Amino acid sequence: MLTWYDRHRRTLPWRAKPGETAIPYRVWLSEIMLQQTTVTAVKPYFEKFLTLFPDVFALAHAPAEAVMSAWAGLGYYSRARNLHACAKAVVEIHGGVFPADQDALRALPGIGDYTSAAIASIAFNRVATVVDGNVERVMSRLYAVEDPLPGSKPQIKSLTAALVPDDRPGDFAQAMMDLGATLCSPKSPSCILCPFSGSCMGQARGDAETFPRKTPKKEGQLRRGAAFVLLRDDGAILVRTRPEKGLLGAMTEVPGTDWSADFKPKDALAHAPVDVDWVKLRGQVRHVFTHFPLELTIYAARCSKRKNAPKGARFVSLDALDQEALPSVMKKAIAFALENFPQ
Ligand code: SF4
Repeated sequence: MLTWYDRHRRTLPWRAKPGETAIPYRVWLSEIMLQQTTVTAVKPYFEKFLTLFPDVFALAHAPAEAVMSAWAGLGYYSRARNLHACAKAVVEIHGGVFPADQDALRALPGIGDYTSAAIASIAFNRVATVVDGNVERVMSRLYAVEDPLPGSKPQIKSLTAALVPDDRPGDFAQAMMDLGATLCSPKSPSCILCPFSGSCMGQARGDAETFPRKTPKKEGQLRRGAAFVLLRDDGAILVRTRPEKGLLGAMTEVPGTDWSADFKPKDALAHAPVDVDWVKLRGQVRHVFTHFPLELTIYAARCSKRKNAPKGARFVSLDALDQEALPSVMKKAIAFALENFPQ
């Protein structure tokens, strides 16, 4: 069955003409959103972005807060900052027209090897080697690549490069990704229907589903911290903006401690943003980032509507929270506090 992205790519008017902006813009936007994110999660965001920012000019000229807020919940927030920076660069350097050349694409913010190859190939039909996770699976089975990922990436890329045709390389790239997304599935590949059937080493060995080999992952060390949810009588909540650089940079958060493996719960209240009667809620909020799991202890308190926000923080009405760039972990922390708020 075709995924939304497969259908979306196939419904694009075929290939960008010189100077055309709509197709490269859509291909670029969807490729950035799909990095480490599922099609199901991306779909509503892709549609929202096309409504809010219908072309690269609209995105480039949008305020940073509007872009971060539209991205909130999709994760890996450095992508949103790079997306905005890239839109500005395309407008300022290239007059709003995405370059077709892979090197020129790679020079833009947030565009690496894979994305530059995908845009060059899919949007402009240039010869480029497009290797995503699906293609890695197909190629590692086709050639029974015994070296584990990620170390085998260069080998898989060069095996793929040798197959890319001069004629319709964009179709080849999409066909390989489609094959990986549909027939060559992780657990039970449908070899009988596959165009590589009969020439695939994994199929011949009878253990195709054991590829690609993978180096076992080391789980990140658990970090802990505390977050403070202060609710004012008028239904506003205290928030602040995280520093520009680093994890969840420039996103909105409720005040809290740093997150660390050696977090000491007894020191948490020293980080409270204001001096009120904080209540430590029972239970914890858990969240898993790419590199580490997190456990947050939540402190909650109420205050009078006359209370002013301390320096660097602000009160935001609960009704207006969905316009803030709140990452998932903060949504969880606030929801947990509101459900368990002391009466
Ligand atoms: S023959 Fe089977 S294992 Fe080989 S590429 Fe096709 S679906 Fe994948």
